[in-house]
Amino acid sequence: MGSGRFGWRNYFESTIDEVAVIIWPMLVALHQDVRVDALGATKGHQYFCPNCRAEVTLKQGRIVIHHFAHKPPTNCTWAKGETRAHLMAKVAIRDAFRTNGYQADYEVEVLSGGGDRRADVLITSPAGQRVAIEIQHTPILFDAIERRTKGYMAAHVPVAWIGILSPIMKSDAVTITGGLKIEKYAIRPWEKWAHAFCFKELWYVDPEDQTLWKGVFSDYLIEVQSSSWYNEYGEEQSAGGYSRVSKKWKTLTLSGPLPLGSAKIAIKSRKPWSSKVFSLPGGQFAHFIQSPNGTGV
Ligand SMILES: [Zn+2]
Repeated sequence: MGSGRFGWRNYFESTIDEVAVIIWPMLVALHQDVRVDALGATKGHQYFCPNCRAEVTLKQGRIVIHHFAHKPPTNCTWAKGETRAHLMAKVAIRDAFRTNGYQADYEVEVLSGGGDRRADVLITSPAGQRVAIEIQHTPILFDAIERRTKGYMAAHVPVAWIGILSPIMKSDAVTITGGLKIEKYAIRPWEKWAHAFCFKELWYVDPEDQTLWKGVFSDYLIEVQSSSWYNEYGEEQSAGGYSRVSKKWKTLTLSGPLPLGSAKIAIKSRKPWSSKVFSLPGGQFAHFIQSPNGTGV
Protein backbone atom coordinates (compact mmCIF):
# COMPACT_ATOMS: atom_id res chain seq x y z
CA MET A 1 0.00 0.00 0.00
CA GLY A 2 1.40 3.35 -1.00
CA SER A 3 1.22 6.70 0.67
CA GLY A 4 -2.54 6.94 0.52
CA ARG A 5 -5.00 9.24 2.11
CA PHE A 6 -3.28 9.30 5.47
CA GLY A 7 0.29 8.71 4.38
CA TRP A 8 0.49 5.25 5.88
CA ARG A 9 3.77 4.45 4.29
CA ASN A 10 5.57 7.43 5.73
CA TYR A 11 3.97 6.83 9.07
CA PHE A 12 5.03 3.25 9.17
CA GLU A 13 8.57 3.79 8.02
CA SER A 14 9.56 6.20 10.75
CA THR A 15 12.37 4.82 12.79
CA ILE A 16 11.89 2.40 15.64
CA ASP A 17 14.10 4.63 17.81
CA GLU A 18 11.57 7.36 17.57
CA VAL A 19 8.87 4.89 18.48
CA ALA A 20 10.53 4.28 21.82
CA VAL A 21 10.53 7.87 23.02
CA ILE A 22 7.50 9.63 21.69
CA ILE A 23 4.22 9.90 23.52
CA TRP A 24 1.75 7.75 21.68
CA PRO A 25 -1.07 9.24 19.73
CA MET A 26 -4.74 8.46 20.17
CA LEU A 27 -7.44 8.38 17.56
CA VAL A 28 -10.29 9.46 19.82
CA ALA A 29 -10.67 12.30 22.32
CA LEU A 30 -13.53 14.05 24.08
CA HIS A 31 -14.93 17.42 23.06
CA GLN A 32 -17.65 18.59 25.46
CA ASP A 33 -17.85 15.00 26.73
CA VAL A 34 -18.57 13.63 23.26
CA ARG A 35 -16.24 11.20 21.52
CA VAL A 36 -14.58 12.78 18.54
CA ASP A 37 -12.53 11.00 15.90
CA ALA A 38 -9.26 12.68 15.02
CA LEU A 39 -10.06 12.27 11.33
CA GLY A 40 -13.14 14.43 11.67
CA ALA A 41 -12.02 16.78 14.44
CA THR A 42 -11.98 20.54 14.05
CA LYS A 43 -8.92 22.61 14.81
CA GLY A 44 -9.40 25.24 17.50
CA HIS A 45 -11.63 23.12 19.72
CA GLN A 46 -10.55 21.84 23.10
CA TYR A 47 -10.08 18.08 23.34
CA PHE A 48 -9.55 15.90 26.39
CA CYS A 49 -8.20 12.42 26.96
CA PRO A 50 -11.09 10.03 27.77
CA ASN A 51 -8.86 8.32 30.31
CA CYS A 52 -6.91 10.91 32.31
CA ARG A 53 -9.04 13.92 31.28
CA ALA A 54 -5.97 15.99 30.49
CA GLU A 55 -6.17 18.29 27.52
CA VAL A 56 -4.74 16.75 24.35
CA THR A 57 -3.55 18.36 21.16
CA LEU A 58 -5.09 17.66 17.77
CA LYS A 59 -2.49 16.85 15.13
CA GLN A 60 -3.63 16.93 11.56
CA GLY A 61 -0.49 16.75 9.50
CA ARG A 62 -0.16 15.76 5.91
CA ILE A 63 2.37 13.06 6.58
CA VAL A 64 1.02 11.18 9.57
CA ILE A 65 -2.48 9.98 10.33
CA HIS A 66 -4.59 12.54 12.16
CA HIS A 67 -4.46 11.94 15.89
CA PHE A 68 -4.57 13.41 19.36
CA ALA A 69 -1.46 13.65 21.51
CA HIS A 70 -0.95 14.14 25.23
CA LYS A 71 1.16 17.09 26.22
CA PRO A 72 4.37 16.00 27.90
CA PRO A 73 4.97 15.09 30.61
CA THR A 74 2.17 12.58 31.03
CA ASN A 75 1.61 9.49 33.11
CA CYS A 76 -1.50 8.47 31.25
CA THR A 77 -1.50 4.79 30.31
CA TRP A 78 -3.28 5.65 27.07
CA ALA A 79 -0.26 7.64 25.99
CA LYS A 80 2.02 4.65 26.34
CA GLY A 81 2.56 1.48 24.46
CA GLU A 82 0.96 2.31 21.17
CA THR A 83 2.96 1.66 18.07
CA ARG A 84 2.41 3.01 14.64
CA ALA A 85 1.62 -0.44 13.32
CA HIS A 86 -0.92 -0.86 16.11
CA LEU A 87 -2.60 2.42 15.22
CA MET A 88 -2.74 1.47 11.55
CA ALA A 89 -4.14 -1.94 12.40
CA LYS A 90 -6.94 -0.40 14.47
CA VAL A 91 -8.03 1.87 11.64
CA ALA A 92 -7.77 -0.87 9.03
CA ILE A 93 -9.82 -3.36 11.08
CA ARG A 94 -12.46 -0.79 11.92
CA ASP A 95 -12.81 0.22 8.30
CA ALA A 96 -12.99 -3.38 7.10
CA PHE A 97 -15.86 -4.20 9.45
CA ARG A 98 -17.68 -0.98 8.65
CA THR A 99 -17.48 -1.81 4.97
CA ASN A 100 -19.04 -5.17 5.76
CA GLY A 101 -22.05 -3.71 7.49
CA TYR A 102 -20.92 -3.87 11.10
CA GLN A 103 -20.94 -0.97 13.46
CA ALA A 104 -17.28 -0.54 14.36
CA ASP A 105 -15.27 1.90 16.45
CA TYR A 106 -11.79 1.93 17.82
CA GLU A 107 -10.71 2.75 21.37
CA VAL A 108 -14.07 2.07 22.97
CA GLU A 109 -14.44 1.64 26.71
CA VAL A 110 -16.15 -1.59 27.65
CA LEU A 111 -17.38 -1.64 31.22
CA SER A 112 -17.09 -4.82 33.17
CA GLY A 113 -16.91 -6.10 36.70
CA GLY A 114 -13.20 -6.63 36.26
CA GLY A 115 -12.49 -2.96 35.69
CA ASP A 116 -12.61 -0.81 32.62
CA ARG A 117 -11.31 -2.17 29.40
CA ARG A 118 -10.65 -0.13 26.34
CA ALA A 119 -11.20 -2.29 23.28
CA ASP A 120 -8.88 -1.61 20.37
CA VAL A 121 -11.85 -2.13 18.09
CA LEU A 122 -15.41 -2.82 19.20
CA ILE A 123 -17.72 -4.18 16.54
CA THR A 124 -21.46 -4.73 16.65
CA SER A 125 -23.00 -7.08 14.13
CA PRO A 126 -26.24 -6.25 12.34
CA ALA A 127 -27.84 -8.75 14.77
CA GLY A 128 -26.58 -6.69 17.73
CA GLN A 129 -23.76 -8.94 18.90
CA ARG A 130 -20.83 -6.97 20.32
CA VAL A 131 -17.29 -8.28 19.93
CA ALA A 132 -14.01 -6.74 21.07
CA ILE A 133 -10.90 -7.10 18.96
CA GLU A 134 -7.64 -6.71 20.83
CA ILE A 135 -4.60 -6.19 18.67
CA GLN A 136 -1.81 -7.32 20.94
CA HIS A 137 1.67 -6.04 20.35
CA THR A 138 3.24 -5.44 23.75
CA PRO A 139 4.85 -8.29 25.66
CA ILE A 140 2.13 -8.80 28.27
CA LEU A 141 2.32 -11.87 30.46
CA PHE A 142 -0.09 -14.73 31.06
CA ASP A 143 -1.91 -13.19 34.01
CA ALA A 144 -2.53 -9.89 32.18
CA ILE A 145 -4.09 -11.46 29.09
CA GLU A 146 -6.11 -13.81 31.27
CA ARG A 147 -7.40 -10.92 33.39
CA ARG A 148 -8.37 -8.86 30.35
CA THR A 149 -10.13 -11.79 28.74
CA LYS A 150 -12.10 -12.41 31.94
CA GLY A 151 -13.05 -8.73 32.01
CA TYR A 152 -14.57 -9.00 28.55
CA MET A 153 -16.35 -12.21 29.45
CA ALA A 154 -17.83 -10.52 32.51
CA ALA A 155 -19.08 -7.70 30.27
CA HIS A 156 -20.60 -10.28 27.86
CA VAL A 157 -18.39 -8.99 25.09
CA PRO A 158 -16.43 -11.89 23.59
CA VAL A 159 -12.88 -10.87 22.74
CA ALA A 160 -10.75 -11.89 19.78
CA TRP A 161 -7.00 -11.59 20.27
CA ILE A 162 -4.98 -10.87 17.17
CA GLY A 163 -1.29 -10.23 16.61
CA ILE A 164 0.54 -7.93 14.24
CA LEU A 165 2.57 -9.48 11.45
CA SER A 166 5.65 -7.31 11.74
CA PRO A 167 8.28 -6.58 9.09
CA ILE A 168 10.75 -8.59 11.21
CA MET A 169 8.47 -11.63 11.17
CA LYS A 170 8.07 -11.31 7.42
CA SER A 171 11.80 -11.14 6.89
CA ASP A 172 12.23 -14.30 9.00
CA ALA A 173 9.59 -16.17 7.02
CA VAL A 174 9.92 -18.35 3.97
CA THR A 175 7.17 -18.69 1.40
CA ILE A 176 5.40 -22.03 1.39
CA THR A 177 2.32 -23.27 -0.45
CA GLY A 178 -0.61 -21.37 0.95
CA GLY A 179 1.33 -18.93 3.08
CA LEU A 180 4.45 -18.31 5.09
CA LYS A 181 6.49 -20.27 7.57
CA ILE A 182 8.80 -19.07 10.31
CA GLU A 183 10.81 -22.15 11.18
CA LYS A 184 12.28 -20.86 14.44
CA TYR A 185 10.07 -18.31 16.15
CA ALA A 186 10.57 -17.07 19.71
CA ILE A 187 6.98 -17.35 20.89
CA ARG A 188 5.88 -14.68 23.36
CA PRO A 189 3.83 -15.62 26.42
CA TRP A 190 0.65 -13.91 25.23
CA GLU A 191 0.89 -15.73 21.92
CA LYS A 192 1.23 -19.05 23.69
CA TRP A 193 -1.79 -18.18 25.78
CA ALA A 194 -3.98 -16.84 22.96
CA HIS A 195 -3.10 -19.76 20.67
CA ALA A 196 -4.18 -22.26 23.32
CA PHE A 197 -7.25 -20.18 24.19
CA CYS A 198 -8.44 -20.14 20.57
CA PHE A 199 -8.09 -23.91 20.12
CA LYS A 200 -4.65 -23.73 18.56
CA GLU A 201 -4.84 -20.85 16.17
CA LEU A 202 -3.85 -17.22 16.35
CA TRP A 203 -4.58 -14.69 13.66
CA TYR A 204 -2.27 -11.89 12.61
CA VAL A 205 -3.00 -8.66 10.80
CA ASP A 206 -0.52 -7.03 8.48
CA PRO A 207 -1.47 -3.36 8.66
CA GLU A 208 0.90 -2.45 5.86
CA ASP A 209 -1.05 -4.22 3.14
CA GLN A 210 -4.24 -4.82 5.13
CA THR A 211 -4.19 -8.58 5.06
CA LEU A 212 -5.04 -11.31 7.55
CA TRP A 213 -3.07 -14.46 8.28
CA LYS A 214 -4.08 -17.51 10.27
CA GLY A 215 -1.19 -18.63 12.44
CA VAL A 216 -0.64 -22.09 13.89
CA PHE A 217 2.27 -22.92 16.17
CA SER A 218 3.90 -26.31 16.12
CA ASP A 219 6.81 -27.82 17.98
CA TYR A 220 10.32 -26.85 17.05
CA LEU A 221 12.72 -29.71 17.54
CA ILE A 222 16.25 -29.24 18.77
CA GLU A 223 18.69 -31.86 17.57
CA VAL A 224 20.83 -33.30 20.30
CA GLN A 225 24.03 -34.43 18.57
CA SER A 226 24.99 -38.03 19.02
CA SER A 227 28.40 -38.92 20.30
CA SER A 228 30.02 -42.15 21.34
CA TRP A 229 33.02 -43.08 23.39
CA TYR A 230 34.58 -46.09 25.13
CA ASN A 231 34.46 -46.45 28.86
CA GLU A 232 37.23 -47.82 31.04
CA TYR A 233 36.14 -51.39 30.24
CA GLY A 234 36.36 -50.78 26.52
CA GLU A 235 32.60 -50.80 26.08
CA GLU A 236 31.15 -48.43 23.57
CA GLN A 237 28.88 -45.80 25.10
CA SER A 238 26.73 -43.31 23.29
CA ALA A 239 24.45 -40.38 23.99
CA GLY A 240 22.38 -37.93 22.03
CA GLY A 241 21.22 -38.61 18.53
CA TYR A 242 17.68 -37.58 19.29
CA SER A 243 15.66 -34.41 19.21
CA ARG A 244 13.74 -32.69 21.92
CA VAL A 245 10.89 -30.20 21.83
CA SER A 246 12.02 -26.62 22.42
CA LYS A 247 10.10 -24.55 24.94
CA LYS A 248 11.44 -21.27 23.65
CA TRP A 249 11.10 -21.84 19.94
CA LYS A 250 8.08 -22.74 17.88
CA THR A 251 7.47 -23.10 14.20
CA LEU A 252 4.84 -20.60 13.05
CA THR A 253 2.88 -21.48 9.94
CA LEU A 254 0.84 -18.61 8.54
CA SER A 255 -1.97 -19.30 6.08
CA GLY A 256 -2.85 -16.40 3.90
CA PRO A 257 -2.99 -13.70 2.94
CA LEU A 258 -6.68 -12.96 3.15
CA PRO A 259 -7.84 -9.47 2.39
CA LEU A 260 -8.89 -7.73 5.58
CA GLY A 261 -12.13 -6.86 3.83
CA SER A 262 -13.11 -10.54 3.92
CA ALA A 263 -12.70 -10.66 7.71
CA LYS A 264 -15.39 -12.54 9.57
CA ILE A 265 -15.75 -13.14 13.25
CA ALA A 266 -17.37 -16.09 14.95
CA ILE A 267 -18.10 -16.81 18.60
CA LYS A 268 -17.23 -20.01 20.39
CA SER A 269 -17.43 -21.25 23.93
CA ARG A 270 -14.72 -23.01 25.80
CA LYS A 271 -14.32 -24.71 29.12
CA PRO A 272 -11.76 -23.52 31.65
CA TRP A 273 -8.41 -25.23 31.43
CA SER A 274 -5.15 -24.85 33.25
CA SER A 275 -1.62 -26.10 33.12
CA LYS A 276 1.25 -25.49 35.50
CA VAL A 277 2.09 -22.43 33.47
CA PHE A 278 -1.18 -20.64 32.78
CA SER A 279 -4.96 -20.81 33.01
CA LEU A 280 -7.61 -20.33 30.36
CA PRO A 281 -11.00 -19.09 31.56
CA GLY A 282 -14.21 -20.76 30.43
CA GLY A 283 -16.84 -18.78 28.55
CA GLN A 284 -17.43 -17.13 25.23
CA PHE A 285 -14.70 -15.79 23.03
CA ALA A 286 -14.48 -14.53 19.49
CA HIS A 287 -12.17 -15.53 16.70
CA PHE A 288 -11.57 -14.77 13.07
CA ILE A 289 -12.76 -17.27 10.51
CA GLN A 290 -11.57 -18.07 7.06
CA SER A 291 -14.71 -18.90 5.15
CA PRO A 292 -16.41 -15.92 3.56
CA ASN A 293 -19.64 -17.89 3.98
CA GLY A 294 -18.87 -18.93 7.53
CA THR A 295 -21.05 -18.44 10.52
CA GLY A 296 -20.16 -14.86 11.24
CA VAL A 297 -21.89 -13.01 14.05
ZN1 LIG B 1 -4.71 10.48 29.03
